[in-house]
Amino acid sequence: MKIKSAEFVVSNSKVEKCPDSRLPEYAFIGRSNVGKSSLINMLTERKSLAKTSSRPGKTQLINHFLINGNWHLVDLPGYGYAKVSKSAKRTFQKFITAYFANRKQMVCAFVLIDSRHKAQKIDLEFMQWLGENQIPFCIIFTKADKIKPKALETNIKNYQTEMLEYWSEMPEFFISSATSGLGKEEILGYIESVNQQ
Ligand code: GDP
Repeated sequence: MKIKSAEFVVSNSKVEKCPDSRLPEYAFIGRSNVGKSSLINMLTERKSLAKTSSRPGKTQLINHFLINGNWHLVDLPGYGYAKVSKSAKRTFQKFITAYFANRKQMVCAFVLIDSRHKAQKIDLEFMQWLGENQIPFCIIFTKADKIKPKALETNIKNYQTEMLEYWSEMPEFFISSATSGLGKEEILGYIESVNQQ
């Protein structure tokens, strides 16, 4: 897919206020600092469409971007700040639950995972929750330029092993680097093929 246009539409703190639109939307979510903003900018070929590096405790926002006039890319808040309170974690859970429960036009969630680490509990639990709630998702292993190919393979295998404890198969996954552009064609190609179905 060629990116002809990519524009910021709106930021919302409430799911009910998200655009009243039938356009298909693709949500991007992951731990804070996983490289979500960098990936969104890489995919859309814009330097600072998504703002990089958010700080803990800031207002949780759902950001809609209109791509090529025919689909929405949705930037969801990062999860997993080490220092947030239990109540902040519960608020996040409610917020995310409300997003997925309300946005019927949400076609696929891309769960971003830092490829430099072995399977992390928080990511596994989040994906399990998506599965239990029948929310379609794919995985994107980010920052692949920061790890040697062999180590990357080991980490992905580790995820496969962990996930196959609960699932009959590994969800579709992509490997990306915001610095080299790795994964761009595959991820955009996937979105294009789903949009055409
Ligand atoms: P976010 O909090 O998930 O939106 O993460 P950011 O996009 O702000 O990235 C966090 C940090 O990781 C920043 O310093 C980025 O420059 C760096 N980063 C993000 N993606 C990549 C990548 O693919 N390769 C490298 N080398 N660094 C990355």
